[in-house]
Amino acid sequence: MVPILSVDSLSKRYKNVSALNKLSFNVNKGEVLGILGPNGSGKTTLLSIILGVRKACSGTFNWFGENYTHNINKRIGALLEVPYFYPYLSVKRNMEITAINRNCTTDEIYQAIEQVELTEKLNHPVYTLSLGMKQRLAIAQTLVGNPPVLVFDEPTNGLDPEGIAFVRRLIRQQHENGKTIIIASHNLDEIQRVCTHVIILKNGQSIANGKVDELLKLKQIVQVETDKVEGLKAIVANNPNFKIIDSYSEGITISVADNEAIKLLNEQLTDKNIVPKLFEIRQPSLEEIFLDQVAK
Ligand code: ATP
Repeated sequence: MVPILSVDSLSKRYKNVSALNKLSFNVNKGEVLGILGPNGSGKTTLLSIILGVRKACSGTFNWFGENYTHNINKRIGALLEVPYFYPYLSVKRNMEITAINRNCTTDEIYQAIEQVELTEKLNHPVYTLSLGMKQRLAIAQTLVGNPPVLVFDEPTNGLDPEGIAFVRRLIRQQHENGKTIIIASHNLDEIQRVCTHVIILKNGQSIANGKVDELLKLKQIVQVETDKVEGLKAIVANNPNFKIIDSYSEGITISVADNEAIKLLNEQLTDKNIVPKLFEIRQPSLEEIFLDQVAK
């Protein structure tokens, strides 16, 4: 099966900053890929290159097995960081302008507006919409003409919890309808909830890439609380088997690779006469995997 998007050794420098460094990955049909990374890790640069807004310094990418041309954007609904609207034109008129390049019918425009629940604002000028409504309108623009691929950069930026839940539902629906979706986000919980796959970027390089549920099995999390916190931290600090994910006054949360490391920790605590008040082992969240990988 030809991947929907194939990125091969993509690099981008801005003067002396390396924003992307030989990045390679594929996205297959029906996947929802989350692109995670700390500030400045290259997420927006990557999205703007694959959408033809910026040029890479080296490397290649293709969509649907074809070399990129601007025509390919007709098959991709994209929302980059700052959506652009004509503020004095109505919701409907803004959508009609977006639709010009997409060969779609008025019914399809109404459908996209309905999907983001803005039908009652159809004839209102865009400047009268709230921030959350504008974000929904931007999402409606990506849906118009029913493109098979959706690309979102921080789709829930500035939204309240209800708005976030709405966008999450919409992304899930689009996934169920068979769309391929790429989302760059800081919101790890959101990525864990809606994405099938994830790539974690750091300094423009991939430091983890794969299915979300498989990444979550890479590590185990151990939370330990004791009266002798300093002794506990000393055991953990210099041991490469353990990585501190969180540290607080009563204890620490660490990631470990396997049961052997947990056994070792128990033995070391016993050796130092440190009695845990809490010793809890659980599966990591995506946030904990992210902290584990990014802190390397
Ligand atoms: P954020 O999460 O903060 O949006 P990001 O992961 O999207 O960050 P990019 O915006 O792609 O990261 O930036 C990657 C690196 O490239 C950063 O060091 C940034 O300062 C630099 N950079 C981005 N755009 C430019 C530009 N136009 N000129 C110079 N440097 C830039």
